[in-house]
Amino acid sequence: MLSSDISDLVRQLRQRGVRKAALQFPAGLKRQAAKYAGALQAEGFEVIVSGDPCYGACDLALETLEHADVLVHIGHAPVDRQEKVIFVPYPVDFDVAVLEKVLPLLKGKTTGLVTTVQHARLIPAMEAFLKGRGIDVRVAGGSGRTPLRGQVLGCSFSAARETGADEILFVGTGVFHPIGIALAAKARVVALDPLTGIAQEVSADSLLRKRFAVIEKARGAKTFGIIVSTKSGQQRLELAHRLAALSPDTLIVTMKEVSPDELLNLGFGCYVNTACPRLSYDDQVRFHVPVLSPQEFEILCGTRTWDDYAIDEIP
Ligand code: SF4
Repeated sequence: MLSSDISDLVRQLRQRGVRKAALQFPAGLKRQAAKYAGALQAEGFEVIVSGDPCYGACDLALETLEHADVLVHIGHAPVDRQEKVIFVPYPVDFDVAVLEKVLPLLKGKTTGLVTTVQHARLIPAMEAFLKGRGIDVRVAGGSGRTPLRGQVLGCSFSAARETGADEILFVGTGVFHPIGIALAAKARVVALDPLTGIAQEVSADSLLRKRFAVIEKARGAKTFGIIVSTKSGQQRLELAHRLAALSPDTLIVTMKEVSPDELLNLGFGCYVNTACPRLSYDDQVRFHVPVLSPQEFEILCGTRTWDDYAIDEIP
């Protein structure tokens, strides 16, 4: 935690007249809780910490507001506006010279640059580095669920699509985001992990093969549970009703945490997931029955063709 971050937070809390603050951290930052709480207590604030799992700004511990004047959510940018929530970034910086490693893989006339929230403040430095190497780099402005310039989320790739570039450079860890970008932007995607320096071209083919197999398996199901999340930034009830109308064998099920045990207990032959899209794509191996995305259920029901396959995004 930077002292400038905490002094900025203290300033915001004082401006709002806050006496009691609740703190929320995603899993990777939970161990920072005591440090943040100690720093705020030393400034005279009462503090409580949410210990529930948290995966994103879509998952705000709003129930803590029964015991606090404000919720301070660390590590994510807002996906929607919430009056009593303060979002505090947790940037992870690196030397942008690591982008040298990806230059041999860039072949497009124009290159769209995107990253995740942790590295978003380095977008101007990365952009300047690439321009200095003769790359025609494009960065989309922030909007909607991704308010930071060049920011993508696992449920929103509009910052990649909006560049209109013929290839996209994703700077960040893991392959889920670049695969999602390839499907959403229909462009060639190169990914650079800025912490290891590993650069690679990423294709969506393997994900598509797996999802085709999951849809085929779902054809044997007799009952379909349409999952609707009760988390603040994942609720898509209207979509769930539209999907439920596609088959007489559906039932809408509300859930907070979607776990293999809970799906097993509910006993449906297949689930359609309108909660965090990553649940279907990343966690299918943990589930005993198919968990389809909304678009995959449309394919199953014959209202969408396989050629129109699309990655699920939350608008
Ligand atoms: S819905 Fe999923 S991908 Fe989107 S912000 Fe929440 S946790 Fe991240």
